[in-house]
Amino acid sequence: MAAMDKSIEERIDRLHAGGIVDLHFDLPMDLYEKRERKNVLETEFLPELDAGSIGLVGVAIYIEDRYLLETGLRVALDQVARLYAEAEACERFAICRSYREIQKAREQGKIALLITMEGAEPLGTDLNLLRIFYELGVRSIGLTHARSNAAGHGGIFASSGSAQEGLTEFGRDLVRECEKLGVIVDLAHINPAGFDDILSITTKPPIVSHTNARRYYDIERNISDEQIKMIGERRGVIGVNSVLVSPREEESTLDRYIDHIEHIANLIGIDGVGIGFDFFEFIYRQWPESRQRELAAKFTTPHFIPDLRNHSHAKNLSRKLIERGFTDEQIEKILSRNWMRIFRELL
Ligand SMILES: [Zn+2]
Repeated sequence: MAAMDKSIEERIDRLHAGGIVDLHFDLPMDLYEKRERKNVLETEFLPELDAGSIGLVGVAIYIEDRYLLETGLRVALDQVARLYAEAEACERFAICRSYREIQKAREQGKIALLITMEGAEPLGTDLNLLRIFYELGVRSIGLTHARSNAAGHGGIFASSGSAQEGLTEFGRDLVRECEKLGVIVDLAHINPAGFDDILSITTKPPIVSHTNARRYYDIERNISDEQIKMIGERRGVIGVNSVLVSPREEESTLDRYIDHIEHIANLIGIDGVGIGFDFFEFIYRQWPESRQRELAAKFTTPHFIPDLRNHSHAKNLSRKLIERGFTDEQIEKILSRNWMRIFRELL
């Protein structure tokens, strides 16, 4: 038995050796809140990222309600500034702007940071600012969070009731401009009508950085079987989220997380599944209880999966995938190769 455990652990290490890709992490807002401290990335995040052999993280600029609208742009710029300062202070990180830079970072054993934006609020209604954020390194944009903004409307945390309208004229222009510039349009959070609008405008493979299947958690913030198939038909990739796997706490398990992977793979093939963990328990725990209650009232109570709560737990996922009968090739695709294909084609 011990020998068998050892061989499984060796197999997991082998699968993680190339570094796994997590396309959604709320790092910039935390670095911003801790802007008075130094080396936060190295001391608070690097140990867990290394324990899970994380090779690339999509780090999302996100503006909390309390900073809207007046200071949203300012806070976004400060988040980017903190990212650069923190990444430069530790040689283990590299902010990457292209597939070539990602490859180079990986060859040097560095953790690649891909700057993304969750909600276009920092742009206001000014398309010129997209170009500015592109120059700052932003390479993927999701138009909305759960809110409505100048670009469109977010999907709500209920099975129906999201805005009937899709993208605004500004939202449509933004999508066209993103595709022209080489900014990946992320369909996470967008409402169903906006989802259709984005796919009618874009021609490249679409992505959903962090979401779950409505099959297991039926809210418009997640994606339906029909939407999953639309992504698959266009050779896109869907990152499976760890915090919305079930409305019930007792069903929020690693097995249910893998049910989402399996469900998507059954609909569109293994090439369409990736990781978008969305680990934000560390932020949630920093909040006073009143703010946690506010989140529950506005959206939902997040159920964190006990053995998949932060990046250091990533190997638990691989262990469970092996247990569930996934082959090495399938696991590698889920952990990194599918996202890397998207980067190779789009960045
Ligand atoms: Zn999100």
